[in-house]
Amino acid sequence: MSKNILLVDDAAFMRMMIKDILVKNGYEVVGEAENGAKAIEKYKELKPDLVVMDITMPEVDGIQAVKEIKKIDPNANIIMCSAMGQQAMVIEAIQSGAKDFIVKPFQADRVLEAVKKVLG
Ligand SMILES: [Mg+2]
Repeated sequence: MSKNILLVDDAAFMRMMIKDILVKNGYEVVGEAENGAKAIEKYKELKPDLVVMDITMPEVDGIQAVKEIKKIDPNANIIMCSAMGQQAMVIEAIQSGAKDFIVKPFQADRVLEAVKKVLG
């Protein structure tokens, strides 16, 4: 059975890049969001198996979104997307319940490794 994934990033090209990697490898992207607030809404609506979440976004950032989603669903699977130099925020996200992180620029192998690991 294919796993349903929610992609969250304020940059459309980033979502497109990750989506391409995932879809080519048999995953289904059931939704996309461009900020943390929309990610929380879509999480409730879609109940995805996994969320791939950017950190820096307008309105509600990825850290806040992780905290909110974890309140809604303590078992939520979330992987963070970080840029270089965001170690402190990655640590906060992991402490808030994110299960892994990938660093931009993305390498397909690393994205798939994280997704496979988190989805078990
Ligand atoms: Mg961003």
